[in-house]
Amino acid sequence: METKTLLVAGAGGFIGGHLAADLAQQGHRVRAVDKKPLDEWYQRFEGIENLQLDLAGIDACRQAVDGVDEVYNLAADMGGMGFIENNRALCMLSVLINTHLLMASKEADVSRYFYASSACVYAADKQTDPHVTALKESDAYPAMAEDGYGWEKLFSERMCRHFMEDFGLATRVARFHNVYGPHGTYAGGREKAPAAICRKVAQAEISGRHEIEIWGDGEQTRSFMYIDDCVRGIKAIMESDIREPINLGSSELVTINQLVDMVESIAGVSLERRYDLSAPQGVRGRNSDNALIQQYLGWEPSITLLTGLGHTYRWIHDQLSGTPSGTRVA
Ligand code: NAD
Repeated sequence: METKTLLVAGAGGFIGGHLAADLAQQGHRVRAVDKKPLDEWYQRFEGIENLQLDLAGIDACRQAVDGVDEVYNLAADMGGMGFIENNRALCMLSVLINTHLLMASKEADVSRYFYASSACVYAADKQTDPHVTALKESDAYPAMAEDGYGWEKLFSERMCRHFMEDFGLATRVARFHNVYGPHGTYAGGREKAPAAICRKVAQAEISGRHEIEIWGDGEQTRSFMYIDDCVRGIKAIMESDIREPINLGSSELVTINQLVDMVESIAGVSLERRYDLSAPQGVRGRNSDNALIQQYLGWEPSITLLTGLGHTYRWIHDQLSGTPSGTRVA
């Protein structure tokens, strides 16, 4: 295998941390960059160059891509619905990261560029029913993306496309559908549903107060992809000839109530449910249509939701009970 020098932007975060670890394990030279101080990164590994840089600025992007063969852009200001519905300007400012990273990558003759887009690019009027028809790539247009976060993703997707068409930079774009797993945000307001529910169930288990608050009526539907499947998909898309944005997600659709059932069964508890109907809930139903990625790459998730939630629950439970099983190194 050819050894390359790879930039992972957003490597202090959840997906970027797992990706950087995986690429380094494959033998590549990895430069990991994030704006967070190093001691706040979810994972850091020996043998990886870890840099704290704010990639909203062009000079930081130039420094980050110097001597790099390929770029993976996972850096963004993001969070679950509670965050993105209340921080639209912050979400849209992530446009600076992708724009400047593309410009710096073009100047530095980077050969390939990966951009992490999102299912939030899809039009809200296609996601009003919990019994959803899975979203296929063409459903992004005519565009009516999630306000703020989704529009930024859609704009940045197009920026990638035009850098490819006009400047010959090979860009690859994946639309992630809800990724979950250990070593990610599980508290503080940016966490997404699987981590939030694992945390609430673990807190109930640890405290003995057997109750849980659920956002909405719990009948909203989603699909969730385990982090290992996500990393495998990112690498396959990066190496492929796929020039258009493509879904990367699971098509195992569940209601939030079913998600809670699963986590309860993993924890061995049964909780009294309280529903907060005024909390942010996002669209009513969302699922990933995987026909295109199956056709191109034969890719589909290999890890069931129950298995992935088991790994995630145990990690979050350990963090909360003060016996972290993480792989952080000083
Ligand atoms: P995350 O918040 O854990 O990681 C993002 C990282 O980017 C953070 O560590 C943050 O500090 C860093 N960052 C933000 N602004 C930066 C800047 N100016 N310079 C350098 N670093 C900066 O999020 P994640 O879940 O790992 O998501 C990674 C990517 O995947 C993001 O682009 C996100 O929008 C996208 N995505 C994630 C999901 C999901 O379910 N997790 C779903 C759809 C899309």
